[in-house]
Amino acid sequence: MTMIEKNLQTVRARVAAACSAAGRAPGEVTLLAVSKTFGPAAVAAAHAAGQTAFGENYIQEAVQKITQLRQLPLQWHCIGPIQSNKTRLVAEHFDWVHTVDRLKTAQRLSEQRPAHLPALQVCIQVNVDGGAAKSGVLPQEALALAQQVAALPRLRLRGVMSIPEPVPDFAAACALFARVKAVFDALKAEGLELDTLSMGMSADLEAAIHAGSTMVRVGTAIFGGRAKVV
Ligand SMILES: *Cc1c(COP(=O)(O)O)cnc(C)c1O
Repeated sequence: MTMIEKNLQTVRARVAAACSAAGRAPGEVTLLAVSKTFGPAAVAAAHAAGQTAFGENYIQEAVQKITQLRQLPLQWHCIGPIQSNKTRLVAEHFDWVHTVDRLKTAQRLSEQRPAHLPALQVCIQVNVDGGAAKSGVLPQEALALAQQVAALPRLRLRGVMSIPEPVPDFAAACALFARVKAVFDALKAEGLELDTLSMGMSADLEAAIHAGSTMVRVGTAIFGGRAKVV
């Protein structure tokens, strides 16, 4: 068994245990393997171990990997910040984007999504714990953006994503994730048909699942440690 396969088993067991502790069915939470900084061989090893959904932060690096692994039936999620000059690459190569926090970005993604591909699946990124400098819309701005994004022809709005700062204990992490869940629920209450709440990483996936996450984004616990700055 490869190290990646062993790590995947451990992470799946953590997800299952967290679901069980929260009284949720294990099938309610999708595991996104965050492969940023790791090469195509690591992704192929994870795929061989049954993983199909992968998350990437750095667009150029991702596009290279996606192209190299074209023959595998993988699903690619953009989870990094998107500058305006990168929207075309994202629209052409990814299946999902979790980090939509401006209408301008969403409009470009919709316009640039190639006609032969299905709609791009997107989440609105929400900032529940930072200042205005942090990526993501503030909770009170989420509904207006979500309604505008939902109306774009080549995007399909699936839900909400957030990256709260790490906090020391389980209860504090749950409280932050609960703020994201509240935004998700509020958008649904307004009639938006959402099914994806993308939150939780290697260190805090248990708290995220406790608070209602439907998709955890896990890098380190699957692929190992990354070099600090990329
Ligand atoms: C890198 C990254 C992850 C994975 O983080 P780990 O701590 O390695 O599990 C998840 N989400 C986003 C947005 C990331 O940038």
